[in-house]
Amino acid sequence: MALTGIQIFKLLPKTNCKECGVPTCLAFAMNLASGKASLDDCPYVSDEAREQLAEASAPPILPVQIGKGVRKRTIGSETVLYRHEKTFYNPTAIAAKVSSDIKDKDLKAKLATWNAFQYERVGFNLRPEMVAVADAGDAKAFAKVAKTIAETSEFNLILMSENVDAMKAAVEATSFKNPLIYAATEKTVDDFGALAKETGLPLAVKADSVEGLIPLTDKLVGMGIKNLVIDSGSRDVKQAFEDQIVIRRAALKGGNRSLGFPTIAFPCEMATNLDTETMLAAMFIAKYGAITVLSDFATESLFPLLLERLNIFTDPQRPMTVTEGIYEIGNPDENSPVLITTNFALTYFIVSGEIEGSKVPAWLLIKDTEGLSVLTAWAAGKFAGDDVGMFVKKCGIADKIKHKELIIPGYAASIVGEIEEELPDWTITVGPREAPHLPAFLKAR
Ligand code: SF4
Repeated sequence: MALTGIQIFKLLPKTNCKECGVPTCLAFAMNLASGKASLDDCPYVSDEAREQLAEASAPPILPVQIGKGVRKRTIGSETVLYRHEKTFYNPTAIAAKVSSDIKDKDLKAKLATWNAFQYERVGFNLRPEMVAVADAGDAKAFAKVAKTIAETSEFNLILMSENVDAMKAAVEATSFKNPLIYAATEKTVDDFGALAKETGLPLAVKADSVEGLIPLTDKLVGMGIKNLVIDSGSRDVKQAFEDQIVIRRAALKGGNRSLGFPTIAFPCEMATNLDTETMLAAMFIAKYGAITVLSDFATESLFPLLLERLNIFTDPQRPMTVTEGIYEIGNPDENSPVLITTNFALTYFIVSGEIEGSKVPAWLLIKDTEGLSVLTAWAAGKFAGDDVGMFVKKCGIADKIKHKELIIPGYAASIVGEIEEELPDWTITVGPREAPHLPAFLKAR
């Protein structure tokens, strides 16, 4: 059972040295108890106290790493029920299922199609991570399909079989890719537990209810296995949804270590058409599936799910930003126009997209406004004329161009005078207020 903040405090050095980033040992103890700090942040905890605190300082939902390479994922490690309380940390991994009786050429075609499902959005590459291979009854074919996916694609694996020998063969062929073994049940917990322990691979646990999971995870933890993913077994929508919430609440609010693991959900086993399956996957991304398994990847369902995931797994207290600097759009030269805007990611991507669409090569200066859009930054004094002027001077754009004209956003028209004071030999031109008017504005010049 987790320790309280006061119990943790009693084991700390109580010097209030602040090296952990908070003013007192008590504050650190409270953060540790609520999963908002790591024990490693305090360099002065004695070995004896560290041992006692190890369990208390573990996150209420343990992190589990699955896979290798660019599509590897850490899941779990969440500390809040609601995103607005702090943030959700580790995005739901999205998987598609294939049966091990799939023909070789069909598998290769599928992998090529799935690999192409990658979308650039606000500076991120959005893509799914996993393929779940379901054993259709032939152990050799199961291992062969899993091996083909592991060796020929970036996708990571969920190996789905109830047959211990088939699982061993598939694990042997793909262990270099750190696949998830799915799943230990009441019947197979000893064998699957032994396999996970021997290989160090993450293991999923499946029961027929939330309560049924507890003795299984307790047994596996007793065997020294903590890389667990849990499945309450329900494929009824209402029950599966309830189970997700019960598990999250039990782990975070009840301190229930037996349920403190990331979950896996199977919309593919709960729906008969793509629309319903997509809707259920969206539900599990929001609450609280750490892995959601689809029957296939189709761009019309995958793209909205990836976008939903991007939106949910960002820190609501920190706007998404791009780095301050000079951005080249369409190979600009010394005569190309120079525009400036703020570093709010959405502003950057809309403005840069419109400039790109205009086919007029340009220099786009991005000024750090702590992620605020133009009007908000101006109102907050983070896009003031003197600041903008100083930034233009120090960013080095003057070395790249022959002219001295700066185009500012229409919403910041009132700072023209201040910029002119800071940049007396420059011409300051007020551009359009709205980004969609930029192409016509740039072409007309
Ligand atoms: Fe206390 Fe350790 Fe933080 Fe120093 S670093 S204030 S000793 S918890």
